Amino acid sequence: MNSNLSFQLSIVFDNKCVEEGFLPGFGFSVLIYNFSSQDYLLFDTGGNSKTLLHNISKLNVDISRIKKVIISHNHSDHAGGLEGIYKLNPNIEIYVPIANLIPYKKAFFESKVYGISELTIIGKNLYSSGQFGQHSTKEQALFLRTKNNEIIIIVGCAHPGLEKFILEAQKLYKITAIIGGFHGFDKFSYLNGVNVIGACHCTKHIKLIREQFPNQYQRICVGNSFLF
Ligand SMILES: [Zn+2]
Ligand SMILES: [Zn+2]
Repeated sequence: MNSNLSFQLSIVFDNKCVEEGFLPGFGFSVLIYNFSSQDYLLFDTGGNSKTLLHNISKLNVDISRIKKVIISHNHSDHAGGLEGIYKLNPNIEIYVPIANLIPYKKAFFESKVYGISELTIIGKNLYSSGQFGQHSTKEQALFLRTKNNEIIIIVGCAHPGLEKFILEAQKLYKITAIIGGFHGFDKFSYLNGVNVIGACHCTKHIKLIREQFPNQYQRICVGNSFLF
């Protein structure tokens, strides 16, 4: 195995684009293999368990190999599939914004549930951005640190504003990739210097992003895998 590899990202839930054999559904989820710790984590869980479990099974990954689940925010298109993962593998660590800690602890009492407030190391080369958002919806993003000391941002819906997560990640290292839902984000100058822009799910301005960053824009489909 190539020892220079840091992460493999496989899209297992999205509503914009789906490869043959995979199922579509409204929501977002990425299955991540961490080459450093040699285990899997899941970022968000899409809108329902059935679609999520089908898409993960298509990648031949056993649910028992998933050690951590990061829930970006408590909307059903991101947390809807968690129950199905939990039923098959309650022995997981679940990371939620601290605002959502108590209901998740109750619902997933067999798992270790952690509430995140600040930028936090949650595993080898893994960080939570910390909880952002001024109103009722609190959200965290996932930062993956590559072996070249660059950051991949995985983001759910970016309700607090994608630039909040970008600014937080920039405190650590240079950002090489951003993948996920950008919501209404239009402050495109924040994307300058980012090599891979994988805007999907709820991104309102995909067309503009593709036009402004034709070489950086990456189409994201369920069933696609990306190596870093
Ligand atoms: Zn949302
Ligand atoms: Zn969403």
